[in-house]
Amino acid sequence: MPKAEPTCQKTKQGLLSHKRQWAKHLLQWYAGHGRDLPWRRQRDPYAIWLSEVLLQQTRVEQGTPYFLRFLASFPRVQDLAAADIQEVLSLWQGLGYYRRAHHLHQAARQIVSDGGVFPQLPSEWQKLPGVGAYTAAAISSIAFDYAVPVVDGNVIRVLSRAFGATEPYDTAAGLHWVQRVAQEVMDTKHAGDYNQAIMDMGATMCTPKNPDCPACFWQKNCFAYQNEKVQALPWRSKKTQILPQTIDYLVLYWEQEFLLFKRPDDGIWAGLFEFMVQPWKGPWDSAAWDRLYGEQWPSNTLEIRTFGVKHALSHRSLTLNLNCIQLHRKLHLNDGVWVPFSELDRYPLPQPLLQFLKQTDFNHGRTQQSHAYRQSRQRP
Ligand code: SF4
Repeated sequence: MPKAEPTCQKTKQGLLSHKRQWAKHLLQWYAGHGRDLPWRRQRDPYAIWLSEVLLQQTRVEQGTPYFLRFLASFPRVQDLAAADIQEVLSLWQGLGYYRRAHHLHQAARQIVSDGGVFPQLPSEWQKLPGVGAYTAAAISSIAFDYAVPVVDGNVIRVLSRAFGATEPYDTAAGLHWVQRVAQEVMDTKHAGDYNQAIMDMGATMCTPKNPDCPACFWQKNCFAYQNEKVQALPWRSKKTQILPQTIDYLVLYWEQEFLLFKRPDDGIWAGLFEFMVQPWKGPWDSAAWDRLYGEQWPSNTLEIRTFGVKHALSHRSLTLNLNCIQLHRKLHLNDGVWVPFSELDRYPLPQPLLQFLKQTDFNHGRTQQSHAYRQSRQRP
């Protein structure tokens, strides 16, 4: 692992000029290779803010249709603030990390209650829910030209390789190194373009796997390329632990309706709807069902099929077991809501449950076999 900054071989003046060259070359590259993205066609802080929130932990290709749909549904921050959270979550459906949608909505309401004027300083943006240092720097620089560098995973990778990180980036010293270099090498006169240029470089040229070094404008100066450290950088001290988690659902349906439940407003899938979480652990258990509901809905009158869905989150590997249960009469539970199949669009669901619905067909009130199908147990 590289421990010494390679550029320390240069004189102080040489080092400064080397760093200035970086911004010059990066901006030249951006002028010819920057991505043409819909939110870059104006400097409207609302559109820029929307795009930055939508693109947190999301690829541009995936986030762009959401951006266009949000702007069409809520053209102004006042429209977003006036919307119901369920409407916002429905539009967000499929994008994941739903806390962002809650924060976006709360921040819109805060901006409108403060007179509808957007903040300009990064520190003011950071007072809004869901706006961290990266998002604040991006909006302030792109919309208002504040000279604050953006620092996220892409930028850490680009700078670590281009200038030779001296410490793992998941340590205080490593983060300090990145922030110092990010500030030193940025073009403060063209902060918005510079930040967008480094974002694009991380997304399209200096990618995590197979960066396009042969075509890179920085190749001759690049620490990682010159020292054969491209795959080794950026480096971190520990690996993210991905924990397995299983959720067992009872997908209760009667004729053309599902029984859904709203999730709490915090934690995973905050505020979304889901099927009933099975009140017992493990596979379908007719004795457990009969103990809870057997008086009115004995298990021997139900049709039961089981599906499995796998889903990866950043820190968890989820396995969903879905026991689909056709009821012969509606089951009424305090916090449950019966939703016709045709109105499911109005109830935002987590991505793996959407995936499950895509793999099944409830149009005729019966589950059909699909590739996610695992086992089937019909009862008379
Ligand atoms: S030469 Fe390769 S590793 Fe270095 S900055 Fe360019 S793309 Fe990244």
